[in-house]
Amino acid sequence: MVHMDYLPIFVKLRGQACLVVGGGSVAERKIALLRRAGARVFVVAPELNAALKVLSGGNEIVHCKAFFEPGHLDGKRLVIAATGDAGVNSAVATAAEVAGVLCNVVDDADQSGFILPAIVDRDPVTIAIGTGGKAPVLAQRLKSRIEAWLPARVGELARRAGTWREPVRRRFATITERRRFWQRFFDGPIAEHVLANRGKQAERLIRRELLQHDATRTEPAGEAYIVGAGPGDPGLVTIRAQQLISQADVVLYDRLVAAPILDYARKEAELICVGKSAGDRPGRQESINELLVDLVRQGKRVCRLKGGDPFVFGRGGEEVQALAAAGLPYQIVPGISAALGCAAYAGIPLTLRGVSGSLTLATARLDANRTADWRALARSGQTLALYMSAGSLANSTKQLMRYGLDGATPAAIVENGTTSRQRVLHSTLARVDADARSAGIGAPAMLFIGAAAALGRELAWFDSATDPMPDMGRSARSG
Ligand code: SAH
Repeated sequence: MVHMDYLPIFVKLRGQACLVVGGGSVAERKIALLRRAGARVFVVAPELNAALKVLSGGNEIVHCKAFFEPGHLDGKRLVIAATGDAGVNSAVATAAEVAGVLCNVVDDADQSGFILPAIVDRDPVTIAIGTGGKAPVLAQRLKSRIEAWLPARVGELARRAGTWREPVRRRFATITERRRFWQRFFDGPIAEHVLANRGKQAERLIRRELLQHDATRTEPAGEAYIVGAGPGDPGLVTIRAQQLISQADVVLYDRLVAAPILDYARKEAELICVGKSAGDRPGRQESINELLVDLVRQGKRVCRLKGGDPFVFGRGGEEVQALAAAGLPYQIVPGISAALGCAAYAGIPLTLRGVSGSLTLATARLDANRTADWRALARSGQTLALYMSAGSLANSTKQLMRYGLDGATPAAIVENGTTSRQRVLHSTLARVDADARSAGIGAPAMLFIGAAAALGRELAWFDSATDPMPDMGRSARSG
């Protein structure tokens, strides 16, 4: 269950006594940080550097000209050991432990009871970035990217929202109504005005929103979002998908949807795994359709989050039919289908001038095998991307050869494509089933057949965590 070494919290230090041990430039930086948070800073050090002497002379900090003793911790909220002397820092950490005072030892996460994150400060919006003390430079890199991306006036936006909290609370009786107001506030023209420094226009709009909204109006109707979550890598989720996940009341997700993508959901949102897999009993899809319709009828905004693209072997079509039949509103957001994601992350071009002139997406599921048009699928000169289910490989390769596709045609399997567990196996149509068996290929996996598939041997670039499979091709250029 434990998966965080540190819990990020924001501590109120205004007016609180805090201790810094050390009087050099490192201590000076930590003192500046504590003072930004309004702390009363006490400094223990035999000597102060020039800048700290100025602060001490101006009574901005309290200097205790001494060597550290445990008694200095009395009444302190927290302590930072910044002496540059490992022995002294250690003594501070030990004494703090005994006294129950939180202690940070600069550059020594092991001895620290708390660590200081990299900070993006748009007061009152504060973003803290931690790497568990493992990669401070990475934290700094992330900080500069967030700094660049975060609107400069986002702090002002938060401040204004703060002044309207109470009027909005009085205006709207239910939490749902309030949340929707704030969503309109942050997603619409009001926020844009604030961010563009047009405060007056923003205020006019807020007043109008609060006056116009008819409180006796019934709950706004629910809506379904049928959303593709992509093949696994959270970086392959669209911005629109992120937005809709983060405003949904309920998220119905498939087993294949990666956990970091679910983190876009609001913390109050209800997350329901409807866990579809190949072995599901018949009727499973119908009960998902019913649940979806039911929740939307209750006025919920329901995000139906599906692996890959909802309309590619995702049964999204049936869910939308059910919603349409019930007369309920919906939006559909495409996702990167497994065929596209796996091909890209395995360096397999799906069409290639002079080699592969078309792409066919098909499924090799056993239940679909009976109806599949194997003659058409067995045509050469194309790339065939087969969405597979466990145990379907032997039959589909046999059928393709039976209908005339050469056994020497290149075939590649991508297992867990686009994730850190991606494995790629290069083989031929005739041998791929046996090779997959000996490599222990499991689900989910995509099968690519056609001359272009072989190019993945040269064009692979994605360095997955697992070792490339021996002599069956590579999952990385260096493999
Ligand atoms: N709607 C999905 C497909 C759902 S069917 C999409 O557009 O991608 C499920 C099948 O997709 C799996 O059996 C497997 O063949 C394929 N698949 C999904 N994610 C995959 C992944 N990360 N790597 C390889 N295959 C994947």
